[in-house]
Amino acid sequence: MILKGIPASPGIAVGKAFLFDTRRFMVPEKKIRKDSLPKEIVRFEEALIKTRTEILEIQKKITKEMGSHHAEIFNAHLLVLEDRMLIEEVIGGLKKEHKCVEYIFARVLDKYINVFAKMNDEYLKERISDIDDVGKRVLKNLLGAEEKTLSGLKEKVIVVAYDLSPSDTATMHRKNVMGFITDIGGRTSHTAIMAKSLEIPAVVGLEKATMKIKSGDTLIVDGTAGVIIVNPDNSELKKYQERQNQFIKLEKTLVNLKDEPAVTMDGHTVELSANIELPEEISSVIAHGAQGIGLYRTEFLYMNRRGLPNEEEQFEAYKGVVDKFSGEPVVVRTLDLGGDKFLSQLEVPHEMNPFLGWRAIRFCLAKPEIFKVQLRAILRASAFGNIKIMFPMISGVGELKQAIGVLNEAKKELRVKNIKFNEDLEVGAMIEIPSAALTCDLLAKEVDFFSIGTNDLIQYSLAVDRVNEKIAYLYRPTHPAVLRLIKNIIDSGHKEKIWVGMCGEMAGEPGFGLILLGMGLDEFSMSSAAVPGMKFTIRNVNFKDVKELAEKVLTLSTSEEIDKFVNKRLDELMPSLKKIKKVPA
Ligand code: PEP
Ligand code: MG
Repeated sequence: MILKGIPASPGIAVGKAFLFDTRRFMVPEKKIRKDSLPKEIVRFEEALIKTRTEILEIQKKITKEMGSHHAEIFNAHLLVLEDRMLIEEVIGGLKKEHKCVEYIFARVLDKYINVFAKMNDEYLKERISDIDDVGKRVLKNLLGAEEKTLSGLKEKVIVVAYDLSPSDTATMHRKNVMGFITDIGGRTSHTAIMAKSLEIPAVVGLEKATMKIKSGDTLIVDGTAGVIIVNPDNSELKKYQERQNQFIKLEKTLVNLKDEPAVTMDGHTVELSANIELPEEISSVIAHGAQGIGLYRTEFLYMNRRGLPNEEEQFEAYKGVVDKFSGEPVVVRTLDLGGDKFLSQLEVPHEMNPFLGWRAIRFCLAKPEIFKVQLRAILRASAFGNIKIMFPMISGVGELKQAIGVLNEAKKELRVKNIKFNEDLEVGAMIEIPSAALTCDLLAKEVDFFSIGTNDLIQYSLAVDRVNEKIAYLYRPTHPAVLRLIKNIIDSGHKEKIWVGMCGEMAGEPGFGLILLGMGLDEFSMSSAAVPGMKFTIRNVNFKDVKELAEKVLTLSTSEEIDKFVNKRLDELMPSLKKIKKVPA
């Protein structure tokens, strides 16, 4: 049986499944005598206190191991515990119904979750998992139940869960968790981000994995491709075990390349940088040898919270990132909300076609008061390192000039106040809309660099929704239309003597990397774990050869032909990469 989900953290794991079901406790509906009421209230209070102590301990552990941002999630948990309304509703229920406190509490909890689920508010919806997580903890303490955690695992397993709460991942014993897979969650869900920073292969969004897999089943988790094979036959098992060994061996060799440049055998150098969503990812960026940040997705600073981050908070975040690098570039992308990323605070109405709607730069230009706070924060941080600024979703010169206009206003405001920033700060445009790709000769005159956003460019030029799994087979980075647009963007940029990078997922695949390198791409930005593989690829080819390869590819007419051709060349050029990092079919 093969299950397909969303690749959350790369790598391969082979092992036994451990079904981790934390969803519900059996709660008895016990009558209590009136004179036992004070005792029930005391039990409730004690359970709340115990839960609070447990959460504080987890928070401390996470802060130590993973940094304060991950630990902040638990502040929301502590708030749930202190919620007066919830507490009073439980005590009121106790007094009225004379039933045991766990029964009343479980009912109040369900009611809360149902109310939140119906809300048309992204922030409040996200709070469901907090309420659920804390609620289960309180119930466990009331029932005196054994804690269901992953900390006591005695053997190495692959964890299969409906979802993993922050406290599950926090208490997980890394040593014994080879991989994890979940029914729900997306590419940027908390679980996925956590898996990536722990470097554990993971696949999320599998929908019914917990129903289809039993504890003890043998699983292959391919976190790179987002594929799970349940009870594989011997030949599959052998194939993947070999792949896994090669992967581990290769990773070891690759780590040695950490401080080497990304230069081809005949001396053509490019830059390899990393994409980040949270400042906590920087240690991984550095460990994998990326030369700075090619895409800092700042919208994550705005998500999962009530208010907007103010200028000071944003300044601290951006400065905190550049402080970790000595002179390497950090490309900060301005707020790209909308599409599949929403914030409740900004009250963006739901749209029929959110990817074609009020998103990214369109939103920022309509809300200059919000936009300028971010621009000032980025500018201020530019005094402390090599920050570059980049605008997302630019559709043409008019819009780009408007964005630069707001940036100039922000600069003026800082000058008036005598606040320092880098006057020579580079400004770039993301090229991710076909209209921009086709007018990039004009856009190139207005900016210092381009960064190609293939995640969007592919969806817009092929009319394939990037998050719709039914049409995922049509989402082809090597469609000749996409490759022609990319070639045009690189050539137009170079004609105006600006550098051209790519920060879409395409930039992290060695097979595609050969084509892009051959087309003359200057900078490749990808998830940090993909950096070593790409560096290895680049260091093992001649620029002369990949230029020829790119020329040949542009004469082919289907992505199938192109993928086949590129895979073959990849195998010939680098047999050691064989079977590990291929162009996905
Ligand atoms: C892209 O569109 O390629 C990109 C890098 O941006 P995002 O995935 O955040 O839209
Ligand atoms: Mg994009």
